[in-house]
Amino acid sequence: MTTTTNTMPHTMSHTRSHTRTDAFIAQEEAFGAHNYRPLDLVVAEAQGVWVTDVEGKRYLDCLSAYSAVNQGHAHPRLVAALTAQAQRVTLTSRAFRNDQLGPFSEALARFCGMEAVLPMNTGAEAVETAIKLARRWAYRVKGVADGEAEIIAFTNNFHGRTTTLVGFSSEPSYRAHFGPFAPGFRLVPFGDIAAVRAAMTSRTAAVLIEPVQCEAGVLFPPDGFLRELAALCAREAVLLIADEIQTGLGRTGAKFACDHEGVTPDVYVLGKALSGGMYPVSAVVSSRALLDLFEPGSHGSTYGGNPLGCAVAREALAVLEDEQLVERSRAQGAELLRALQALRHPAIKAVRGRGLLCAIELHEPARPWCEALMARGVLCKETHGTVIRLAPPLVIGDAELAVCVEALEAVFGGA
Ligand SMILES: *Cc1c(COP(=O)(O)O)cnc(C)c1O
Repeated sequence: MTTTTNTMPHTMSHTRSHTRTDAFIAQEEAFGAHNYRPLDLVVAEAQGVWVTDVEGKRYLDCLSAYSAVNQGHAHPRLVAALTAQAQRVTLTSRAFRNDQLGPFSEALARFCGMEAVLPMNTGAEAVETAIKLARRWAYRVKGVADGEAEIIAFTNNFHGRTTTLVGFSSEPSYRAHFGPFAPGFRLVPFGDIAAVRAAMTSRTAAVLIEPVQCEAGVLFPPDGFLRELAALCAREAVLLIADEIQTGLGRTGAKFACDHEGVTPDVYVLGKALSGGMYPVSAVVSSRALLDLFEPGSHGSTYGGNPLGCAVAREALAVLEDEQLVERSRAQGAELLRALQALRHPAIKAVRGRGLLCAIELHEPARPWCEALMARGVLCKETHGTVIRLAPPLVIGDAELAVCVEALEAVFGGA
C-alpha cells in the first residue's frame, strides 16, 4: 500500500496478505467475541516504546495500552519484580495478610500525598469502590437519607464497563440494551460549573470527574474549571472524586492531571499505569476517615491487594520516580505538541495536548489515518470517531519521538 501526502489514505484491510497475521486474526474472529475492532496487526513482542508483530515488523506504540504502559513495555525492573514475586507468593486472598500489601499501600499513599489506599484490580472496580465510598459517606456523615444519595458525573464520561458505570454514560454504544440501570446519577455538561452548581442538592454525595476526558476525544475542561469545581464541592460538602485512571501517574506531565490547577480531590481513582502494563492493579486513594467507612466485610475482592500485584505496582511507582517520568512526559509532550501544531492539512480541525497526552481532531473519521500511520510504523487508535490520541510510553526518547513526528509529517504533510 502507498500513502501520498494530502490525500485520504486507503485502508489496509483489503490489501494485506501476510499469512501468519491472517491466521491469527481468523482464529480470533472464529473463537473470540467481537466486542472490539482492533487494528489488524498481531503483536508478538514489545519492549520499551516498540512493539513487534508476528511478521517481524516493528512499530512505535503511541497508545501505550490506554496509558497502562507509561513505564514502557516489559520494563526490566517490572519484569524482575513480577518474576521474583511470582516465585515467592502470588495470592493469599485478604483472609490472610501478606508482606507486600503494607509496603505497596505506604508507597502509593505517599506518592499521592494521601493517607490510605484500598486496592482493587481493574479500573472499573476501583470506580465502583469510589461510588460505594461516596454513598456511605453521604449516609453516615453528611446525613442523606438511606438510598437517596446522588452522584454528579459529566456527559461524555468514561469510567468503565460495569452495568452501573455504563448506566450513567451518555454514549449510546456503551449502554444500548444493557439496562435496567442503577439510579442515583446526574449528568451535567463537562466543564460547565454553573450546571454542576445547579445539579447539586442536599442529597449530592460526590462529583465524579475525569480531569481530562480521554475516551471522549482527549477533551480538556476550560482553564480554572477544576479549581472552581473543587471550591464548589468543598463549600457544598460534596466529595470530589477524580478518576485519574488514565490521566494520572505522569501522563499529562504532572503526577495527576488535577495538579495542573493545584487541586487535591477527596478521592483518587487509579489503575492502568499503576502496574506498568504487567498485571491489573487499581486503587482508591483517600483519607483515613473516608476509607474507614468500609468496615470489615463491607467490601472486598479476591485478588485485590494480592502480593504479586502489590510487588509490581510498588516497583512501577518507583520507576516513575527514579526515571523522572513525570518530568519527561512534560518535556517530550511539549515537543510533540509543537510538532502537531506545525502540521498543516485540511483534514485537521484542531490539535491539543498536555504532557504526553496529545490529540489530533479531524473533520472526518480518524480510522483510515490511524491505518496510514500504522503503515508508517506508528500505532495509535482513533477515539470518539474523529480523534487520534497520541500517548506514547513516557520513557520515549528524542530519537523515538522523532520517528513519531516523521510519520505524522509524512501522513499529514507539513514542515
Ligand atoms: C480505562 C479507564 C477506566 C476503566 O478501567 P478498566 O481497567 O478498563 O476497567 C475507567 N476510567 C478511565 C478514565 C479509564 O481511562
